[in-house]
Amino acid sequence: MTKKEKLESLENKTLAAYYADSLLRGSEPHVDYYIKNKKCFKLLLKSEMLTDLSMRKYFKEMSQRLTDAVNWNRYQNEKASFLQTKTFKAGILDYVVNAFWENETLVLKVFLTKALVDALEGGGLFTEDELKIDIGYSRESAPAIEFLNKYGLALSKTLTGTTKDKVLAALQMSINNGEDRNAAVDRLMNTINDKVRATTIAQTEAVNAFSAGRMEVGRQIGADRKKWRTAGDNKVSQTCRFNEAQGVVPIDFKFKDFQGNDIDAPAAHPNCRSGIQLFMPGEKV
Ligand SMILES: [Zn+2]
Repeated sequence: MTKKEKLESLENKTLAAYYADSLLRGSEPHVDYYIKNKKCFKLLLKSEMLTDLSMRKYFKEMSQRLTDAVNWNRYQNEKASFLQTKTFKAGILDYVVNAFWENETLVLKVFLTKALVDALEGGGLFTEDELKIDIGYSRESAPAIEFLNKYGLALSKTLTGTTKDKVLAALQMSINNGEDRNAAVDRLMNTINDKVRATTIAQTEAVNAFSAGRMEVGRQIGADRKKWRTAGDNKVSQTCRFNEAQGVVPIDFKFKDFQGNDIDAPAAHPNCRSGIQLFMPGEKV
């Protein structure tokens, strides 16, 4: 074996182990439609694994930054006042300045765009293979860069918003329980260092990026119809079953996600592993 082959074999083994583990954790299995294109499926899995690791690393570093950013004197004062009055004052949980969260949004965006680029490219290449037209799509294409910029920022804002809510709830709980600084720090660390959350984000967002690549290239090539595809087993969500039951629909048709929002393609819910099939004009289905 050459060095390159050895590395590739190691990478394949790592990805296979990661995938087996995700199924053991109860993930919806990928539709076999994804798996038939080995090269693209590998890019999707690679992206998922990288996003998972990136999110864990990000959460870990962020919990440290947050602990440093909290005004602990203020925390002690608020705690003392709460113990006496048993009421929270307005703005009592503003220990962390807004600039902190704005900065976190940008840091997270960098982590996400780096990790999701493989899935995006994999989706685009999958469409080229499926529709048998090579338009030279890659991670360097203008639409790919634009997607990563816009989507990365939007996603990062949403995730940071959720983290902020979790942090404020944790601080409030610490005050309620009269916890000292050490206990409050532990609670914050445990709240942010959420491995399950990291994995859920990775699985869902890798599929979202893959679908974005699929749809972008599909539109450029001129695909005019699509069909939602599930694995068809008993782990498939109600939402995805419903989307699949719509059959072959026009390319701009809106499916529904689990909250009833309009979407072009999977993911329809956290940990969704459905796929989208595209068709060219005149192509028999
Ligand atoms: Zn699904």
